[in-house]
Amino acid sequence: MRGLHWFRNDLRLQDNRALDDLFQAVDEWCGLFVLEHRLVNKPSVSRKRLSFLFECLDDLATDITQVGNRLVIIEGPAETQIPQVMHEMSASVLSFNESTTPFAKSRDQSVICSVEKAGHRVLKRRDHVIFSATDIRSSKGSAYSVYTPYRNAWWKKYSQNDHGEFTASKRPRPIANFGTVSTPKLLTNLKKNLEKPTFKGGHRAAHNRLNQFLNKPVAHYHQNRDRPDLDGTSRLSMHLRFGTISVRECFKQAMEASHSDPSYKSGVHRWLDELVWREFYNAILEENPRVLHSNYRQEYDYLNWRNNPKDFSAWCAGRTGFPIVDAGIRQLLSTGWMHNRTRMIVASFLTKDLLIDWKLGERFFFEHLVDGDPASNNGGWQWAASTGTDAQPYFRIFNPWKQSERWDPEGDYIRRWVAELRDVPKLHLHSPTSVTQLASDYPTPIVDHASQRRAALIEYRKAREQNLEAQQGV
Ligand SMILES: Cc1cc2nc3c(=O)[nH]c(=O)nc-3n(C[C@H](O)[C@H](O)[C@H](O)COP(=O)(O)OP(=O)(O)OC[C@H]3O[C@@H](n4cnc5c(N)ncnc54)[C@H](O)[C@@H]3O)c2cc1C
Repeated sequence: MRGLHWFRNDLRLQDNRALDDLFQAVDEWCGLFVLEHRLVNKPSVSRKRLSFLFECLDDLATDITQVGNRLVIIEGPAETQIPQVMHEMSASVLSFNESTTPFAKSRDQSVICSVEKAGHRVLKRRDHVIFSATDIRSSKGSAYSVYTPYRNAWWKKYSQNDHGEFTASKRPRPIANFGTVSTPKLLTNLKKNLEKPTFKGGHRAAHNRLNQFLNKPVAHYHQNRDRPDLDGTSRLSMHLRFGTISVRECFKQAMEASHSDPSYKSGVHRWLDELVWREFYNAILEENPRVLHSNYRQEYDYLNWRNNPKDFSAWCAGRTGFPIVDAGIRQLLSTGWMHNRTRMIVASFLTKDLLIDWKLGERFFFEHLVDGDPASNNGGWQWAASTGTDAQPYFRIFNPWKQSERWDPEGDYIRRWVAELRDVPKLHLHSPTSVTQLASDYPTPIVDHASQRRAALIEYRKAREQNLEAQQGV
């Protein structure tokens, strides 16, 4: 029997749930990747993310070649092209790992229908996260909307299960004699216009990064994780996004590191709780696909966003005159990644100081992030805008000056990313008047934080009142 594994956000051979299932079910197999025009060829797709994806695909292709097989890349749409390839290869089993977004779910359903209609079998598994939304339920059977009880239930379930790495003992032969499949023109054209990725892609790179992080930085993660000036986090988000490493492996290895050296315990625990945030946001999207285009908390549908185009352009260009905000945006534009603390600061600034709709910021991030992930990106933005589940309360508004003083005390992060401020002493980087006085080519702050804070509080309160009135039928 012959089978195909459709690689998507699981670009590895190791500890891959659906691939392992396929290996048990067939005698011959081949890897498949479907390049979807409708996904990769639009302006909202980060060029840096594409470049990273292609490097991951090259690495996967090398791994597959090393075991005497090959990765076939075809152009979509998957719904029509997968049944066609299965027919050409006389394959009767298709395996893939599930995705969470509404688009992927509906496309996958169409693929399943057409493959099953042709009399073939589909093997589908959950791999991207450890638990899906339906696995973590309260004692009343309902989904959690607050992180802490979700996390407690998550850890309880985790401790009751064995989630160790699993690699199938049997590896089927390659599918023989199916001729050549030429590289899609779309892939060749896209590759021509891309720069080299800023982060190394592929399974080996992910492994090296995990080992490096678990070797030392993780021991201080709980102390350093909020400092954008330090290299204190794993920077594995883009690998988890494309599945070049499995999340189960991250848990397993981190827990082993913590057992072998008790001084790692606090750091490891805190790090794993961040991975549980990833699972939480994934579950929120799974349960509430509407969050991709609307507020989780519907009382904020009444918010009167100002959406001033000039302010938005200044924010997008990293020219707001707020050094920590501009440093974050410039790090993103330059590398395709931004530190979590600065993601929170720039998102708070956009939504609260500028009163710009979080959906614009979410889209901008998605256009630039290498790790751009619909569930985590949406969760992060709705958290910062106070419109999300278990979000920052609307009255807690970050003061960008105090944030930079606290989390970038020496100003090293700001100076690294904002060239105009390279020679400004740290004392002057965290206050509005001195920054503008010291660096003439740096913009003056586009708003005054204190008055914008007051304006945001008024707007948020107004929205809540309007919602209440609407509910009471006033
Ligand atoms: C406005 C905003 C947008 C964001 N957009 C994304 C996104 O598109 N993709 C993305 O992967 N993360 C996103 N995050 C979450 C977080 O900023 C990144 O996961 C983290 O900065 C990645 O760096 P790291 O791998 O060094 O993280 P580490 O601190 O090493 O954490 C380990 C892993 O845990 C997960 N994680 C950590 N923090 C969070 C979090 N708050 N929410 C969900 N998962 C988390 C990530 O997979 C991360 O790789 C966003 C956060 C905010 C505030």
